[in-house]
Amino acid sequence: MRINKYIASCGIASRRKAEELINDGRVSVNGKIITELSFQVDEAKDIVEIDGEKIGLDEKEVYIVLNKPEGYITTVKDQFDRPSVLDLITDIKERIYPVGRLDYETSGLLLLTNDGDLTYKLTHPKHEIDKTYMAIVKGVPTNEEIENFEKGLYIEDYKTAPAKFKIVKINEEKNYSICQIKIHEGRNRQVRKMCRAINHPVLRLRRVAMGKITLKETEVGSYRHLTSDEIKYLK
Ligand code: URA
Repeated sequence: MRINKYIASCGIASRRKAEELINDGRVSVNGKIITELSFQVDEAKDIVEIDGEKIGLDEKEVYIVLNKPEGYITTVKDQFDRPSVLDLITDIKERIYPVGRLDYETSGLLLLTNDGDLTYKLTHPKHEIDKTYMAIVKGVPTNEEIENFEKGLYIEDYKTAPAKFKIVKINEEKNYSICQIKIHEGRNRQVRKMCRAINHPVLRLRRVAMGKITLKETEVGSYRHLTSDEIKYLK
């Protein structure tokens, strides 16, 4: 099996992330750091280590959905020592990691798994699953602004794919709108950048669904395991 697929199957990282680990010189096979991304692992006898720690294929697959609070990062660690969503996962011994990212200030639905193939599939730009957000934005977007948002906007050096934007509630006195936004892509801070591009910056952001997966009754800061039907649907 190709080394990046092997690392993903062990639930350590997505295939793309695994390639980064290899490029960073953190992966060794039988005691030797490997540099070739096409390296083939013999699962039956090779000893694969990341940062000197042995990895293996025997972990069971775990799929959970966390109701992320605001004020948590979705990486394992950052330079400011801010709390990580992994601090909220207390009774799962498998090494799981988030599927994609939510910003530190964003709350809501976050999938976590040790199934690297599923992570790869769900975050691949071609197969990105629809994501639904509830956003509180400044002001009240006009029909023209909504149309521009939905058709696709130029942000930095790219044009966003078609998206959906619906105003759910307006508070004229306090000058904000509550909106439902659906996007197919998952670029860094994309919803915030798109709202800013139509001059209605996001004040608060919450993800409420990924495809048909929702949080159901999961409270903020808690998580639930996906049902087998939900896992089948995502795969
Ligand atoms: N878009 C954003 O801007 N932030 C998120 O956390 C998710 C999507």
